[in-house]
Amino acid sequence: MALPGRPVEAPVVVLGGGPVGMVAALALARRDIPVIVLERGDDEVRSEWRGSTVHPATLELLDELDLAAPMLKEGVRAHHLDYRDLELSESARFPYELLERETRYPFRLQYEQYKLVRQLRRAVDGSPNVDMRFGHDVVGLRQDDTRVELDVTVGGERVVVAGRWAVAADGAHSIARKLLDVPFPGFTYPFLSLVVATPFRFEDALADLGTVGYWSGPRGRFSLIRTPDVWRAALSTATRVDDDPPPGTHPDFHAAVDLLLKGCLDPRELPLSQHQMYRSHQRLAASFRLGRVLLAGDAAHLSSTTGGMGLNSGIHDAMALAAALAAPDQETATSAYAERRRAVAERFVQPATTESRTSADAVDVAVRRDRLVRLRALAEDPAEATRYLRRVSMLGIQN
Ligand SMILES: Cc1cc2nc3c(=O)[nH]c(=O)nc-3n(C[C@H](O)[C@H](O)[C@H](O)COP(=O)(O)OP(=O)(O)OC[C@H]3O[C@@H](n4cnc5c(N)ncnc54)[C@H](O)[C@@H]3O)c2cc1C
Repeated sequence: MALPGRPVEAPVVVLGGGPVGMVAALALARRDIPVIVLERGDDEVRSEWRGSTVHPATLELLDELDLAAPMLKEGVRAHHLDYRDLELSESARFPYELLERETRYPFRLQYEQYKLVRQLRRAVDGSPNVDMRFGHDVVGLRQDDTRVELDVTVGGERVVVAGRWAVAADGAHSIARKLLDVPFPGFTYPFLSLVVATPFRFEDALADLGTVGYWSGPRGRFSLIRTPDVWRAALSTATRVDDDPPPGTHPDFHAAVDLLLKGCLDPRELPLSQHQMYRSHQRLAASFRLGRVLLAGDAAHLSSTTGGMGLNSGIHDAMALAAALAAPDQETATSAYAERRRAVAERFVQPATTESRTSADAVDVAVRRDRLVRLRALAEDPAEATRYLRRVSMLGIQN
């Protein structure tokens, strides 16, 4: 542990030991760049529900860190992407095998974020180049042309940790972004979303159920995703972000399950292992580089969880910034990192997630039917379907 007042130094200091911070640390360590990771939480990995989708482009990057193989062993592979409706018969199915020539992972992997975090913790523990410090809360930041100094509270003491560069991977409420006065414009969706996990075997109750399905319906979107242990359902609710959710299991979940299972089971009997309301946002930091501080992951961009691109694009940031910090001309490479990754977030991730959220939340029955008819036409044309799958798999935009 650092002595109060005495700076601890490394070439790179990463703020935040979430998935993006740890991927950045490992990728830097692989390039022989020592890193200190400052994480304000403790070393326990909680099994809270966040990301569960890993796209082909992200698997390719995680393979560079030898993380893909254990994930492939445990995760569930989705070989189709299904679009359906809770009331209508129209549907569309996109087969991932169309991507066989594009990627060595022509499927989408369902693997819970907390399990990825566990894998990352193990890899970080085994890396002599990564000094991971829990219980280190960053509260201040200064920089000049040569280094960054961070004030850190640890066990009631104040210490200084310094690096030639800092990576801000400290999440949606990033202290670094705030201390650097980086605007974070965008918006918060007015209604809360809900994620639910259940061991109920939907595959026994629904014909031809794939492992990833997105339904439209009279109350908005409903998705059902198979993860290794449970089914994970996510949906829009009618609860406004500032209102208290109703007590118990949300009535919108009951209503959706009632339509899905055509009343053959009382939704109140479904066993639930998680039931969590959350806010969704579309926000983008004005810049991903401020002097010697690089922003990455949720600290830099937030997007709707529909389509599962938040964590994935954060991992892409982490790999790209490690390459930039290992480049001979760090100055030019880090500026290019900031421009390129911000452009990807602005021109690709934000429009794609906004579009999928808006179209999936349409409640008008004619609009829902039209959308499924359009998706079906796309799915039936191999060239169009391949283009569509490339886009939703984030291929070609990962660096
Ligand atoms: C319900 C839900 C479902 C989602 N589903 C998907 C999905 O399917 N696919 C997908 O790609 N994404 C999904 N996401 C988004 C995904 O979870 C996030 O994009 C991802 O967690 C971002 O990782 P991160 O490391 O940038 O931030 P975080 O995971 O928030 O980690 C930030 C870390 O920084 C630490 N920290 C914060 N402040 C400080 C400080 N001052 N000092 C030191 N440490 C600090 C925090 O303790 C934390 O450990 C989902 C999110 C939610 C809420």
